[in-house]
Amino acid sequence: MGAEKNNGKILIIGAGGVATVAAHKCAQLPHIFKDIMVASKTISKCKNIKNDIKKRYGRNIKIAQIDADNVPDLIKLIEDFKPFVVLHLALPYQNLYIMKACVETGVHYIDTANYESPDNPHFEYAQQLAFHDSFKKRGIMALLGSGFDPGVTNVFAAYAQKHLFDEIHYLDILDCNAGNHGQPFATNFNPEINIREVTQVVRHWEEGKWIETPPIMDEKSIHFKFNYPEVGERESYLLYHEELESLVKYIKGLKRARFWMTFSDNYLTHLRVLHNIGMTRIDEIEYEGAKIVPVKFLKKLLPEPSSLGKNYKGKTVIGNIMTGIKDGKAITRYIYNVCDHEKAFIETGTQAVAYTTGVPAMIGAMMIFTDTWKGEGVFNIEQFDPDPFMEALKIYGLPWHIVEHDPLPDKF
Ligand code: NDP
Repeated sequence: MGAEKNNGKILIIGAGGVATVAAHKCAQLPHIFKDIMVASKTISKCKNIKNDIKKRYGRNIKIAQIDADNVPDLIKLIEDFKPFVVLHLALPYQNLYIMKACVETGVHYIDTANYESPDNPHFEYAQQLAFHDSFKKRGIMALLGSGFDPGVTNVFAAYAQKHLFDEIHYLDILDCNAGNHGQPFATNFNPEINIREVTQVVRHWEEGKWIETPPIMDEKSIHFKFNYPEVGERESYLLYHEELESLVKYIKGLKRARFWMTFSDNYLTHLRVLHNIGMTRIDEIEYEGAKIVPVKFLKKLLPEPSSLGKNYKGKTVIGNIMTGIKDGKAITRYIYNVCDHEKAFIETGTQAVAYTTGVPAMIGAMMIFTDTWKGEGVFNIEQFDPDPFMEALKIYGLPWHIVEHDPLPDKF
């Protein structure tokens, strides 16, 4: 049995910062996304998106309340609305439930972050890739990791492999947020997911093996100052990031792949204190007769990432530095995007971290709606032709640059 025909209907699950941007971007393209539904846990958040889209573009979108942990409810919602694609922009905890519902209903699936179990902060693609045969049998596709990182960074690597290099040997992904939101401490995307990610032991890939190094808040963490285009020098920390898992599989000839992210001293000091006093714990504790998970409680106290946009100033700079061989010569190229928090806010009411994720999420959907990317099964984004995606990034708000660069040192 194959997928339903393209009827122009997209179901966006989640109503946070990333979903807000994706809904805006889809609403700007009525010839592709003819009917949009935003469904999430809290209906008032869906209503806010609906009202803003009505105000800005005069379009009516549909909204619905859904708990995406509930597969039968998801199936009912999908059967009622009959979308061509489900764009999952809730949390990584829901990936498997939503994929299951997509298989049941024969609808394409997209996400921006790989599956994580609520009680184990280990992220990997295995459980999502295990759906490959059932997606294939159903004649539908799952596009995994269509955000910025993962997402655009994978596409940058695929583009470099196709056009710039004969072989890429060294890949460094550098993610810099040089913006300031004016809050003493806040995370730029879901606080729970963000804190789980950055408190992990760090891994990078070298000569076929994963090498472990201390977490970013440890005094032995690996970091260096990198001079980012447009924003200048920022301390950048080695961090494990999920796109490394698929990139080491699909980029031929790689000898090393690392991921770096900037953190301010202020952020790290807060994180250290929160970690040391147990506020980042993900296990249940008992408090006055109630069971609470400290990191979930902390999330309640921290600013909503979608609320940070109003006062955000500065830019994000995310890209790949790649060293390898072209026509027998060693070369290094840097592909990057710069995104301005204030411009993102003017266009969509959210900050650049949500913007840089929501735009590629929409482009991933566009690739499927326009029949540009076709497949049956579960795919990482770098398995597809990067060219149309790279072209769309330029058109829809995330232009990129390619420059020559010095190779990054082996050790810091
Ligand atoms: P937010 O926390 O702002 O939004 C998450 C949304 O999901 C909220 O509206 C939340 O509802 C909803 N949600 C949570 N649980 C459920 C559920 N069980 N059923 C239905 N809806 C639910 O997160 P962001 O928008 O910042 O991030 C969204 C996703 O994007 C995350 O998975 C994140 O990891 C990913 N991401 C990917 C990036 C990339 O570059 N690839 C970068 C940044 C983020 P409520 O608020 O009512 O609980």
